[in-house]
Amino acid sequence: MNKSVNWEYSPAPESIDHIQLKNQYNLFINGEFVPAYQKKYFDSINPANEKVIAKIAEADDSDVNKAVVAARNAYKETWSKMGPRERGKYVYRIARLLQERAREFSVIECMDGGKPIRESRDVDIPLAAAHFFYYAGWADKLKYAFPGVSPTPLGVVGQIIPWNFPLLMAAWKLAPALVTGNTLVLKPAETTSLTAMKLAEIIQEANLPPGVINIVTGGVETGQALVNHPDIDKIAFTGSTEVGKYIMKALAGSGKKYTLELGGKAANIIFEDAPIDQAVEGIINSIFFNQGHVCCAGSRLYLQEGIAEQVISKLKNRMDSLIVGDPLDKNTDIGAINSKIQLEKINEYVQLGKDEGGTIYQSKSEMPDKGYWCAPIIFTDVSQSNRVVQEEIFGPVLAIQTFRTIDEVIAKANNTPYGLSGGVWTDKGAKIFKVSKEIRAGVIWANTFNKFDPSAPFGGYKESGVGSEGGVEGLRGYVDLN
Ligand code: NAD
Repeated sequence: MNKSVNWEYSPAPESIDHIQLKNQYNLFINGEFVPAYQKKYFDSINPANEKVIAKIAEADDSDVNKAVVAARNAYKETWSKMGPRERGKYVYRIARLLQERAREFSVIECMDGGKPIRESRDVDIPLAAAHFFYYAGWADKLKYAFPGVSPTPLGVVGQIIPWNFPLLMAAWKLAPALVTGNTLVLKPAETTSLTAMKLAEIIQEANLPPGVINIVTGGVETGQALVNHPDIDKIAFTGSTEVGKYIMKALAGSGKKYTLELGGKAANIIFEDAPIDQAVEGIINSIFFNQGHVCCAGSRLYLQEGIAEQVISKLKNRMDSLIVGDPLDKNTDIGAINSKIQLEKINEYVQLGKDEGGTIYQSKSEMPDKGYWCAPIIFTDVSQSNRVVQEEIFGPVLAIQTFRTIDEVIAKANNTPYGLSGGVWTDKGAKIFKVSKEIRAGVIWANTFNKFDPSAPFGGYKESGVGSEGGVEGLRGYVDLN
């Protein structure tokens, strides 16, 4: 498929014979799959070939209400009364079942979202299972997480997630909320509902008491119905800063709690003393992983002047060797853009970058005819005030600038409304400490990028959000401390 590579290309597509998908998915409420009140369905499309994979039920206000009532009843009658160890057993069960069906989930995630099978197989699904395992372990140890105080659950929590890591984001939300004794209504993103519906099958198989987890599919209006429902105790949201602001306003004065995991525009900083070849690999991983649909992507690259030319030349060579194409092919590095809308957004930014005077380089990759594709792009000759440097593009587009001193690059890195993540490449520990201390961002990776672990907290400063997920800190957002 990809003719730009200079060796004989041999596709290695993952088999899809073993996966089981229905033509149509209903809502998951009170332990059962039920049609939406208005019987409306929308299409879930494979972005790599534009074919409809399945039809998904669209929940309205009355469906959301039904899910909240089911969650409230489950909270009062079973889940909050159950012993912590018992709750933990259910969460372990979900983790194990997910691990057993990892192959099936990897393929479905890849087909529904466009990410390469290597990523869904090696990152998304194993990490999702690891989150359930990790938090299951906390279920009967909460007194150690909160020494000297008694944590009590919040009650019914509404959870809204984005499309870039569908199952993983569901796991980040569900696992800590369950083990702290809350019951849940989860809303997946409209372009990627399938692994959430497969997870509902696992929830049934795990015999979780009905109503503890409810899943309502739909778009913006379904999300709004959940945010504005009067009997929700908290909204846990991951998505864009724009919608995060809407949620903050909608909840103001309601007494409901919230955590918001929002957008980012991370600085990835390469000093002259960095291991250059490793850093080039790190740049590729930081911005082209998951087609750049990553909140913590290193979308602003800062190169110290003395190495800028060398790094850009190596980067272009490496970009040209990336294989863009069929997400199910195990050789593929860059899969499909998640949706037509997202591709249009990326293309608008690319045009804007050119109009602002940036110099563009796009990798020489041959793209399939059908589907939504964007070969990796870098912009040079851009400055801090350019919109491609300031705004989150959420695609495989990197803005490159240079710097001379450490103080200069720290100031440039902090010159953003976001504060989610960052990267630093150097062989000097002192520089790592200074950069990671002075950049206002939740995570700073040193000589690596995009490394995740369930035990490590993740969260943003400034417009990147409120609260943390992961680690012991991830439990904090789901309890009241008395
Ligand atoms: P989005 O904000 O458009 O949508 C996220 C979710 O919110 C979807 O389920 C959507 O249906 C729902 N939604 C949209 N409008 C709503 C409203 N008015 N009320 C309630 N719900 C609403 O974001 P997206 O395009 O799906 O995801 C990309 C964004 O997510 C990026 O900005 C990215 O940085 C961010 N993100 C952040 C993290 C993090 O941990 N900080 C992780 C992943 C993604």
